[in-house]
Amino acid sequence: MQPAQAQEQEIQERIEDIKMGTLTKNIEEAELKMKNIAEEQAEINKQVRVLNEQQKKLDNEKNDATLKISLFKEALLARREPSKEVMRLRKMIIQKIADSNDENISVKKLGELKGEIDSLKKDFQKICLHPFVFGHSGYEGSYSYDRDDWYYGRRLCIVCGFSEYAVKTPPDEKFVTLFQHEGRLVRSNLNHKDGLPDIWRWSNLREIINKFFVDKRVFKMVDGTYKHPDLSNLGKLFKNK
Ligand SMILES: [Zn+2]
Repeated sequence: MQPAQAQEQEIQERIEDIKMGTLTKNIEEAELKMKNIAEEQAEINKQVRVLNEQQKKLDNEKNDATLKISLFKEALLARREPSKEVMRLRKMIIQKIADSNDENISVKKLGELKGEIDSLKKDFQKICLHPFVFGHSGYEGSYSYDRDDWYYGRRLCIVCGFSEYAVKTPPDEKFVTLFQHEGRLVRSNLNHKDGLPDIWRWSNLREIINKFFVDKRVFKMVDGTYKHPDLSNLGKLFKNK
């Protein structure tokens, strides 16, 4: 007998030996096992979903906490008062500008006043730390980020009137003096077409600071009514970027 034939015969004999009951019992056991696995998998999937939800909730809480830290730090900066000397100089310049606008002023007096205003402004800009800065970025915000849309951004200190153009266009926009740092609040959302505001019209600096340098979300956070925005559709908004 060939070895292959011998093997065939052995299989035949062994299969005859297995009882029918044993076969059905094995099938039933395996089917039960499958059912248990399916149940266990369903349970695991459920837990994964719960964990994913928890993860998402923690991510949102983390984002809120990060935002809170940054907004409250900003609010703290916004509450600072410029020094008495700074406020005195500022008031003096505003007064002299008002005097120079008097219709009855003589040409000689007007010339003198203008000279004084210019020199006061120069001195003032040397001691001012430029804590509150307005400006516009050198980019207008269509999402395509075309090179053609770039121009030089500009910034202005609303306390002393010092202003400067960026030395580079976005994305490498850079300011030599009025750059962003921990002790300086910068709002770069002016429209470049509107130009920079005439800060000497603002006698009440506190009002301007509160209006433009305090993020209104701070109040909701203090009240505990701040709601995390639903960002699930954000991806669609930026898909062309
Ligand atoms: Zn300044």
